[in-house]
Amino acid sequence: MELAVEGCCGNCTKGGSKPGHACSGQGAPCEGKGKGGHHHEAAFRHALPKYPPVPIAGFTPLTLLDYPGKLASIAFLWGCNMRCGYCHNPGLVTQDDGTRVSEKEFLEFLDHRRGKLEGVVITGGEPCVHPGLPNFLSAIKEKGFAVKLDSNGSFPQVLKAVVGKGLVDYIAMDVKAPLAKYAIVSGSHVDSGKILESINFIKSSGIEHEFRTTVVPGIHAEEDLLEIGRLVCGADAYYLQQFRPGGNLDPAFERLPATPDSFLLQMAQKLESFASVVGVRGLSY
Ligand code: SF4
Repeated sequence: MELAVEGCCGNCTKGGSKPGHACSGQGAPCEGKGKGGHHHEAAFRHALPKYPPVPIAGFTPLTLLDYPGKLASIAFLWGCNMRCGYCHNPGLVTQDDGTRVSEKEFLEFLDHRRGKLEGVVITGGEPCVHPGLPNFLSAIKEKGFAVKLDSNGSFPQVLKAVVGKGLVDYIAMDVKAPLAKYAIVSGSHVDSGKILESINFIKSSGIEHEFRTTVVPGIHAEEDLLEIGRLVCGADAYYLQQFRPGGNLDPAFERLPATPDSFLLQMAQKLESFASVVGVRGLSY
């Protein structure tokens, strides 16, 4: 087990960045193949059913934090099936913030970043709510980029489908609470059996992966985190993320304090045997 403490803005539930603005895609076109691709482009031209394009609310052209070990771009997909009170991307959850980027525009941006970027992070919202997700991932893979998919784990059948088609290289799943507290923490009617199915599938998938929990004062007690640790036991990595108030989906969360650094570090130590890497993200120092 390796104990890791990572710097992060801490104001995100899915990585370290907020949606960026639509990018003009400036930069020298490159004929080369992205470093992140493991397969020839043609390998990903699957016979996928056609669905409407995914709604891209915005993208971050470059992140050094959100895809472990890779230079990556982040695409933020609008829409989510959950309503976590602490969510820091309410614009992606409850309303269309009007900054959509077309799939075509984003894919053209990637064309200009071949040989410079290695991967693409697909986040939200919850990307798996969109039937067009496999097509979108396939188009990215065809360009030679590695794909990291962030998910809340509500749709194990979608995770199985995209992994089965070779469209994902890394999965990061939020585990929001012990299964019995999921409805409270996620603010939604969640089938906890599907959450468990996703956790077990990801652990056995052979795909690089991580689980993470945003730890909220007054919501996540020590026993809750130990229970989550038992759920993810045997994972590649498990991260505790610091909650910080501000810009939350439920304004009541803006009156809560940030999670104490000391509690996160203590809990990481107590959880260290549950995953190959156990870490803390977003500490205030
Ligand atoms: S799963 Fe929760 S935290 Fe993540 S985008 Fe949806 S509402 Fe926000």
